[in-house]
Amino acid sequence: MAPAPKPSSKIVVPCIRCGACCRWEGQVKTTDAEISRIARFLNLSEEAFIATCTVLRQDRTGLAIRMLADGTCIFLDDKNECKIHAVKPAQCKGYPLKWRNPSSEHLCHAVKVLVEEGVLPPSEYEPPPAGKLFK
Ligand code: SF4
Ligand code: SF4
Repeated sequence: MAPAPKPSSKIVVPCIRCGACCRWEGQVKTTDAEISRIARFLNLSEEAFIATCTVLRQDRTGLAIRMLADGTCIFLDDKNECKIHAVKPAQCKGYPLKWRNPSSEHLCHAVKVLVEEGVLPPSEYEPPPAGKLFK
């Protein structure tokens, strides 16, 4: 994973809302507090939310948001908006300034621009297969 940039509230992320970061591989981890908050937001009991919207993390250390079979987060709507934007997990809020994947520069327009502007360091990794590149 690429090193995190210096935190700054002044950085504007040039996100084009393509939704790619809500579709690619990797689990969205949720904490107990986030589970309570999201369940309340959805007007569900925590038990119902856990049963219907979460899965055990691959490393078995807690829960993650459920994904569709193709890897899309269940909370991504058909306009590439997050249905739980107001209460989404910290992992989602932190992307791409607090963390990103090695290939984010090639898959995410926002990271590509921030690297070109020198805000983020360039990836040290090779681009992923051409079919997966950001267009
Ligand atoms: S992949 Fe990048 S540009 Fe696309 S929605 Fe996510 S942050 Fe925005
Ligand atoms: S919770 Fe929202 S922001 Fe996070 S991956 Fe799902 S749709 Fe995207």
